[in-house]
This record gives sequence, structure tokens and C-alpha cells, in this order.
Amino acid sequence: MRTVGITGGIGSGKTTVCRMFETFGVPVFYADTEAARLQNEDPEVVRRIKDAFGEEIYVNGQLDRKGLAKIVFKDAAKLEVLTSIVHPAVQQAFQEWSERQQSPYCIREAAVMIESGSHRDLDALIVVHAPEDMRVRRVVKRDGSDEESVRARMARQLSENERLSHADHVIDNSGEILLLPQVLTLHRNLMEHESTQHRTDTNA
Ligand code: ATP
Repeated sequence: MRTVGITGGIGSGKTTVCRMFETFGVPVFYADTEAARLQNEDPEVVRRIKDAFGEEIYVNGQLDRKGLAKIVFKDAAKLEVLTSIVHPAVQQAFQEWSERQQSPYCIREAAVMIESGSHRDLDALIVVHAPEDMRVRRVVKRDGSDEESVRARMARQLSENERLSHADHVIDNSGEILLLPQVLTLHRNLMEHESTQHRTDTNA
């Protein structure tokens, strides 16, 4: 199974792009959604988070995500502890999930991918790109959050140039080029690559 990563800055349009791939029948693993699920449902992950952050970080059996975000936002060491608990669990869940997929390729979507190095385990990386001001406007409109907090979150992410330097493919979501044709072209490339690879493997 060929695995393809999709990442991008806050509000770049990762989810929007992934929904398009899904309409073409490509399975998508949403790493952040899976992380949230594991933090509530995986007994080992729950135990380790409680050991590190205290029992009270769970309220009625559900992780207090806002409370935890506040703690790790201002404490890099604690963020590292949290990542060291959640990241391997998500990796394993992705591994098991991808082995179950019946498709020429599957996608792993995550906001944090290059930072954690998980893109290195994937066969290709797609970066969704849009200018910062546009991303801020879209997130403010989508979440009703204030501009300052969105910019503060962005400042903690990789720079756009750094992210783009790791990309095998870039999807331009600045509105200059239509999104759907870009996704379709890329999908065809990835399908073509897969069938070429298959022919090469069977002829070897
Ligand atoms: P986050 O990092 O916050 O999870 P994301 O990268 O997944 O965001 P989306 O949620 O897909 O980004 O897009 C952010 C917002 O911008 C959404 O409300 C989406 O509908 C809107 N949006 C995305 N692409 C476009 C576009 N090409 N034109 C107009 N609106 C768009």
C-alpha cells in the first residue's frame, strides 16, 4: 500500500482537499481526529496522560482538551511528553489502518507531520499552500476565533517555506488555480505511479 501524506499550515485547506480525494474513493486517515479518539479511548494512552498530567485532566471520562492545550501551549517540555505518548499510538493506528485498506494508495492527513518526522515513513508528501493572510481570514470565518490567536498558533508552526521545501507535490489553494482539477491531476498521477510500480514489480 502506497502511503501519501497531506499537510499544510492552519487553514490551508487540508480537510477540504482530503474530502475531494475521498470523493475519488481514496481512503483518508485523519491523524488529529484519531489522536483525539485515542486520548479518550485507548486505555494505555489514557493511563499515561493521567500519570503525566494528573487524573483531573479527565472530566467525566473525557479529556479536557482545552485545559491540556493551555498547559502544553506554554510549556515545551510538557508538549514533548504529550507528543511522546500520543504520537507512537497514532503511528501504530495508522499502520494497522493502512494495512486494512483496499486501494492503490491511501492518505494520512495531519497538521503536524514534518515537525514530528512522520512524513519520512510515507511514500510521498503533498503540501496544501495558501497565503498567510488568506488562511487567517478563512479560519476566523470558520471558527469565529480572533485574528490574534490564529496568528499566534501560526507563529508556532513551521514557516511556509520550510514546509514547502519538503513537498513532493504542492496544491495551490490561494484561489488562483481551481482546486478540484489540481486534486484530480494529482490523483491520476498517484494512480498511474501505482500501476507502473505494480507492472515493474510483477516483471521483476
Ligand atoms: P485546520 O488546519 O484549521 O484544520 P485545514 O487546513 O484543514 O484547517 P480547511 O478546514 O479545509 O483547512 O479550510 C479552512 C476554511 O477555509 C474552511 O472553512 C474551508 O471551507 C475554507 N476554504 C478552504 N479552501 C477554500 C477555498 N479554495 N475557497 C474558499 N474557502 C475555502
